[in-house]
Amino acid sequence: MDIRQLIRPGIRDLKPYSCARNEFKGEASVWLDANENPYNGPYNRYPDPLQEKIKAKIARLKQVPENCIFLGNGSDEPIDLLFRAFCEPRLDNVAAIDPTYGMYRVAAGINDIEYRSVRLNEDFTFSSVRLLEAVDSHTRLVFLCSPNNPTGNSLDRDEIIRVIASFPGLVVVDEAYIDFSGCPGWLSRLEKFPNLVVLQTFSKAWGSAGVRLGMAFAAPPVIDVLNRIKYPYNINQLTQEYIGRMLDKAGKVKEWADVLKRERERLALALTAVPVVRKVWPSDANFLLIGVEDADSVYRILADRGIIVRNRNKEALCNGCLRITVGTREENDRLISILSLI
Ligand SMILES: *Cc1c(COP(=O)(O)O)cnc(C)c1O
Repeated sequence: MDIRQLIRPGIRDLKPYSCARNEFKGEASVWLDANENPYNGPYNRYPDPLQEKIKAKIARLKQVPENCIFLGNGSDEPIDLLFRAFCEPRLDNVAAIDPTYGMYRVAAGINDIEYRSVRLNEDFTFSSVRLLEAVDSHTRLVFLCSPNNPTGNSLDRDEIIRVIASFPGLVVVDEAYIDFSGCPGWLSRLEKFPNLVVLQTFSKAWGSAGVRLGMAFAAPPVIDVLNRIKYPYNINQLTQEYIGRMLDKAGKVKEWADVLKRERERLALALTAVPVVRKVWPSDANFLLIGVEDADSVYRILADRGIIVRNRNKEALCNGCLRITVGTREENDRLISILSLI
């Protein structure tokens, strides 16, 4: 598959903005090329446009070559850039499972791209056959979120393989919750599949949602086009420094994820015994989807007691469902005790 042929013609030929930090890289003692203010170091300087220091650390940690990594202002940025690079407005379309993360549909709308949603099965499993039936010659991207938000389950590996192997566009596997799952994830398959894009984020297991850093991993032709169309300095200096320090604490992040996974299982078990809770779905993520008789009223009761969960009642297949993030042991205990009184 020639990925370059999938890029919108206007973008394929685009000559990107060449910023000062692209035109001269290397060491110097006097920087007079970027109209920066000489005072207020180090934040007077434009940041590294390609974030090489943190990419080197991410490459080592994830065992992925540096030229297969794109960093964005949250995962939202690579999601939007994939639309801009690969989907011709009002002509092309994308497909995704339903229910799933809401940003794919929003990004499609912003970019004037038709969004085709394909229902999961009743038990939230995913059928590659039904998804592939929904695509046509104008489908450029397929979004598969695994573990999926809000259902919490990981999608079947063989079903995903079938999509990657037979769909002639890009398959985006969103692994925002991969650190909470027992599944190995898809990074090790990037080399085999030139049309695979894996999204990860610092917002969940890394405890850094406020900082806004998302990762996209893919073959170099995909990464190159994202780099050519992004804002030149999309990741600011403060974020680059902060994430550089966080990457030295990967052990701590693993500990947090282990604690949250244990807490998830404890919470799931406790919720199963609560009368108002009809169902607790198994989860590979840091949240639980639960079913109740009247989701709106349970949501309201919890909110009145200061506990905010996500009401997913209106999502496909999620009638009566609330999505509950796993918190600290104390937070989870408060949730359990309030639900027990309903
Ligand atoms: C939370 C989440 C993200 C993270 O988005 P950021 O923009 O990186 O904070 C991405 N995908 C899914 C499915 C999520 O639930």
